[in-house]
Amino acid sequence: MSKRVTLIRGDGIGPEIMEATLRVIGALDVDIEWDEQQAGAGAFEKLGTPLPEETLASIAETGVALKGPLETPIGAGFRSVNVAIRKHFDLYGNVRPSRAIPGVNTRFSDLDLDLVVIRENTEGAYIGIEHTIPPNRSAAESIILVTRHGSERICKFAFEYARRHNRDKVTLIHKANILKETSGLFLEVGRQVANRYDDIEYDEVIVDAMCMKLVTNPEQYDVIVSTNLFGDILSDLTSGLVGGLGVTPGANIGENCAMFEAVHGTAPDIAGQGKANPTAIMMAAVMMLEHLDYDAEAQRMREATHKVVGRGEEVTGDLGGSASTEEFTDAVLRELGA
Ligand code: ATP
Ligand code: MG
Repeated sequence: MSKRVTLIRGDGIGPEIMEATLRVIGALDVDIEWDEQQAGAGAFEKLGTPLPEETLASIAETGVALKGPLETPIGAGFRSVNVAIRKHFDLYGNVRPSRAIPGVNTRFSDLDLDLVVIRENTEGAYIGIEHTIPPNRSAAESIILVTRHGSERICKFAFEYARRHNRDKVTLIHKANILKETSGLFLEVGRQVANRYDDIEYDEVIVDAMCMKLVTNPEQYDVIVSTNLFGDILSDLTSGLVGGLGVTPGANIGENCAMFEAVHGTAPDIAGQGKANPTAIMMAAVMMLEHLDYDAEAQRMREATHKVVGRGEEVTGDLGGSASTEEFTDAVLRELGA
């Protein structure tokens, strides 16, 4: 039976990298029916809103979206369209895998790293309750909100993710020695959840120590779970260990739907020039295929893309090559035997 997926090509380089990705998925043995929808600046121009009801209805129906980068137009009534979608569907789990690409030179090239950061995406330090205190903005304060429910579901998600992806260990990151209540609650709930998963190893590390360990011995980690702010920082750190944001995908997952995207933005400086690197969005598509239980085809797509990137000959300018988006994609298709 075919699986329906909402497709949002997005703004800036979005249409180019998405076209490349669709060509590659088209060469796989998968049965996907795309429901193409609009969002972002393009939607605002055509339909007068950056987030049409129809787009939300489609995601609600399919439960899965592959999304290009979106620009939030000024005066559209949204601070960020991306955040608005996450909020609308309560996409509480942000998943950021960092996997080494053989052949890509990094400081840890010899280690074959494969880490995943799972970040709580709806609470913590990012709830947006902040204000300054008079006179003259002499002070400012901000609220960190950690709930038992929010901690429980993200920790459970991390362990379920570990099981589903055959991973051995979950490491919980906290700062409960200083933030005794907020980080303390997260740690307490994390321990309770960990007790229910005898098959997965569990440990906990204080966030500052974790930063040091990640840049000295990153190979000892597997799945990492944390609250919003620490997760934000750690996920960029782990991206840096394997070659940067240009090759890193992300997923935002909720109870009823999942949205897959690249970590980078719309790159307006190179949009429309055929120069964009589609690797990150292709890796997001690989995550999406795994989510749809097309594991074998996901692996084929990942390996073909990694081969071309690792060889370094037919890669785009950001990776030091001179290939166009299309030439890179042709090389991936050749690798697939298509
Ligand atoms: P946004 O406001 O949507 O976040 P941005 O201007 O911050 O857009 P980013 O997409 O975050 O741009 O990119 C920052 C830099 O990295 C830009 O110079 C951009 O050209 C480059 N870049 C980002 N993504 C890619 C890509 N996929 N391929 C090539 N270069 C990229
Ligand atoms: Mg940006």
